[in-house]
Amino acid sequence: MEKVNINDTIIHLVKIKNKYHFYGISTANSELIETNEEPPLSEDWGDREIYQRINITNFTKVEVPYPIDKIFIEYHQNLKDILQNNRDGQFYNLYREELRVAQKYFAACSPELYNVFDLISRSIGFKPELGIENNINVPTKNEPQSPDYNPAGRVKTIISRLIRDTKLSRLTKAENNWKCQICGKSIQLPNGFYDSEGHHLKPLGGEHQGPDIEGNIIILCPYHHTEFDYGSIAINPETKLIEHIDSHNQYHLKQLAYNRENLGSEFLRYHYGLIFNKS
Ligand SMILES: [Zn+2]
Repeated sequence: MEKVNINDTIIHLVKIKNKYHFYGISTANSELIETNEEPPLSEDWGDREIYQRINITNFTKVEVPYPIDKIFIEYHQNLKDILQNNRDGQFYNLYREELRVAQKYFAACSPELYNVFDLISRSIGFKPELGIENNINVPTKNEPQSPDYNPAGRVKTIISRLIRDTKLSRLTKAENNWKCQICGKSIQLPNGFYDSEGHHLKPLGGEHQGPDIEGNIIILCPYHHTEFDYGSIAINPETKLIEHIDSHNQYHLKQLAYNRENLGSEFLRYHYGLIFNKS
């Protein structure tokens, strides 16, 4: 058995209807513990004298468990290469040119293998909650509820910095590799994953009642998200260029880091017309 350390990331593979699935991710909360307490679902493992166990935390389940057979086909070459470089400690082996799950209950995950699971997670919009998200999604306390440089006569916009990270916004972010559409940057998390924020151009709540649809969501880094909320920056719905209240800003009149075809012009127009504070 491999050694387990506290804070190790654990990839859970679970057998469903006789097929292994990528089931979730968690963090180890203990090293290996020996116990004589039988697990709640012992199945073939009942009646043993000693069980080895670890405690876990932050378990996040993959919404639709992903079949390992599919991973073996889609990432066949990567997994074969990984196996070539490190025969021991993998959860799979090669049998007549076919990859299959080996009977291993703790397997070390090389950085290359971790990468494969990262790619799979991105492709299905799975982002484990490892305690980071909470910090990002908490509204900042001392911020003004409304910027005080609102020109007279504009629709008053009250925006709290509570980030509505809907399921759809998480998916849209994953599809776009968590990159800010203004600066192209993403937040790198300590667990090897990335993050960004989804911003509803026409805000969801309050007087705006914007819809939670892909066309209304722009992917931003926390910095540009704040600028969007305060109306310091916008996308011109006609030219699709970035406009900033400060004409010396480095992004003013620049192209987006990347465009998204499905971004709705009506929502760009809403943000540009009613929230952007251009003079
Ligand atoms: Zn940015």
